[in-house]
Amino acid sequence: MQTKKLKIIPLGGLGEFGMNCLALRWEDDIIVIDAGLMFPESELLGVDIVVPDISYLVENKAHVRAIILTHGHMDHIGALPWILSEIKVPVYATEFTLAYVEGNLEENQLLDETELIEIVPREKFTIGPFTIEPIHVTHSLVDAVSLAIETPVGIVIHTGDFKIDLAPLDGKLFDLHTFAEYGKRGVLALLQDSTNVDRTGYTPGEAAVIPRLDEIFSRTKKKLFFSCFSSSIYRIRIALDLARQHGRKVAVIGRSMMESTEIAQDLGYIDIPQGLVINPGQMRDYPPEQLMLLISGTQGEPMSALSRAAVDNHKHAIIEAGDTVVLSSRIIPGNEKSIFRVIDHLYRRDAQVIYDNGSNGLIHVSGHGSQEEMRLLINLVRPKYLIPIHGNYGNLHKHAQIAMETGAIEHAIVIEDGDVLELDKKDVRKHDKVATGRVLIDSGSSTDVVEDLVLRDRRILSEDGMVLVILAINKRLGKLDQPPEIVMRGFGAGDITEQARDNVLQTLHSLSAEEKTDYGMVKEKVRVELKRMIQKTTGRRPMIMPVILEI
Ligand SMILES: [Zn+2]
Ligand SMILES: [Zn+2]
Repeated sequence: MQTKKLKIIPLGGLGEFGMNCLALRWEDDIIVIDAGLMFPESELLGVDIVVPDISYLVENKAHVRAIILTHGHMDHIGALPWILSEIKVPVYATEFTLAYVEGNLEENQLLDETELIEIVPREKFTIGPFTIEPIHVTHSLVDAVSLAIETPVGIVIHTGDFKIDLAPLDGKLFDLHTFAEYGKRGVLALLQDSTNVDRTGYTPGEAAVIPRLDEIFSRTKKKLFFSCFSSSIYRIRIALDLARQHGRKVAVIGRSMMESTEIAQDLGYIDIPQGLVINPGQMRDYPPEQLMLLISGTQGEPMSALSRAAVDNHKHAIIEAGDTVVLSSRIIPGNEKSIFRVIDHLYRRDAQVIYDNGSNGLIHVSGHGSQEEMRLLINLVRPKYLIPIHGNYGNLHKHAQIAMETGAIEHAIVIEDGDVLELDKKDVRKHDKVATGRVLIDSGSSTDVVEDLVLRDRRILSEDGMVLVILAINKRLGKLDQPPEIVMRGFGAGDITEQARDNVLQTLHSLSAEEKTDYGMVKEKVRVELKRMIQKTTGRRPMIMPVILEI
């Protein structure tokens, strides 16, 4: 009689969107699938990223064998620096994903000490009791895989993120055959992406945006600004192709866009003909109708190239009347305010703005499969148990219903972060709970971590102090009514109030008239610049709170 059980322990992403991370345990061996972050909601002031609580992994350090990544999106790889600074384990991922991971680890000085192992679809590898086969799937990012994991009690398939794109632009087909083969052999559990469970039908393939974008390229008489997620390699490829067909040179603007384009080119995912891409400085040699700017900042991030261009504060990206700006991405809930702020500024410059409002033809398609694709995969795999992953509780719940309706599975089991699901061939049950939660990380340091906001505030206040910057702005004149007031607490040695005031004034001077009307941006710039100055002169990282009073 067998009493040993396989344990499935989600540590993030089941009960929320983002910070995907899941542990699989057999006896004394643990493997971790994905290590993602979540971008904070705006109420978490000053916090840059959110990562999963990995106490469970730290407590079981000696047993964690590897982290395996399904693809290179930040909600799957972004917490790696934080996890690797706690536990040293090898990281397995496909070639393209590793290229992203390398950049991420290098920024955090973790690249040299981390063992990175490349995996290839259809090539099995073994870690302890687990034999793993990566299966190629299609998604908005290239080189994504599902993982078929042979365990002592049966096969578990983790889909990662996927949609079923039947005509992928890189010619690498969704490997339906291998899923079907596993289906024939018998699969114990399918852990499937729930992101788009609310959408009926099929998600259109990446090529579906081409006709509408082509029309926009034809109609644009001046410069064309094309913005998308820097990881949307297919979209970048489409934009480059269209630029070439329509006789436009391309300038790539923004760090993330440049890095991503370079990686994609190096690895053969985009083919850039000689002379198509020019340096930003060369743009002045071409008339506007022969230019496309591939620019980052589609979510209205205050410091991004597009946000700066929108307020006429970018050296190269200059928006003029009659230019067209295409935001080829979705509006991520929570970012509406900053995105529409940027769009407003763009209209103020008399640019034509085209964004995904659901009515003007397809300029963006989702990277996640809709209901029919979920059903299709369930039909191919015919698992005994279906376990929904990636989504809030409502998504997971609905996914379970849809899965049961297929008639292709025995049970659908909804679990959340921290649940320990124990299973074998005969039996499945939620056994107990491990600690999970969100860890907030402040900018600049992967070790600057706190459990919750209160703790974080207390610690920063006690160790690094705080700085309150009060800007009294005369609403009628749109100007500072008096010098900024700086209140500092917890700074023992040396008074830097004067220096701080100068720094704030300098920052304000550097803003364009239009930027000054955008209080969100004013505060963010004041905060960033002042933080930099204080850290440089005192080595401390106080909490900085700019406040704007309109009088
Ligand atoms: Zn993804
Ligand atoms: Zn994802």
